[in-house]
Amino acid sequence: MNRQRRRFSGAFATGVLAVPLGGLIVPCATWAADLPKLSPDDPAAKSLMYVHESADADRRCSGCQFYSGAADADWGPCVIFPEKVVSARGACNSWYKKAG
Ligand code: SF4
Repeated sequence: MNRQRRRFSGAFATGVLAVPLGGLIVPCATWAADLPKLSPDDPAAKSLMYVHESADADRRCSGCQFYSGAADADWGPCVIFPEKVVSARGACNSWYKKAG
């Protein structure tokens, strides 16, 4: 593979990866303050059985990999439900233990 072709392939691969990963960008705290709260009646929330209050203290949004709310916040952003904030004490079927 010549050098130009290799550069093009690298740039193409970067672009292909950047587009889907861009969807994973989590709203920052400033944006989150303006976002509406996710309702358990929301069709997407219902499909994942989201609740504001988890029955299992070890499986709450605050301990989920997809949650990015501040440690002391009652509500925060979740990658699974963009444009909304979820309850730190909530949970859904997509819960995944936060790394670290
Ligand atoms: S994926 Fe589910 S459990 Fe995890 S933060 Fe979002 S709503 Fe909460």
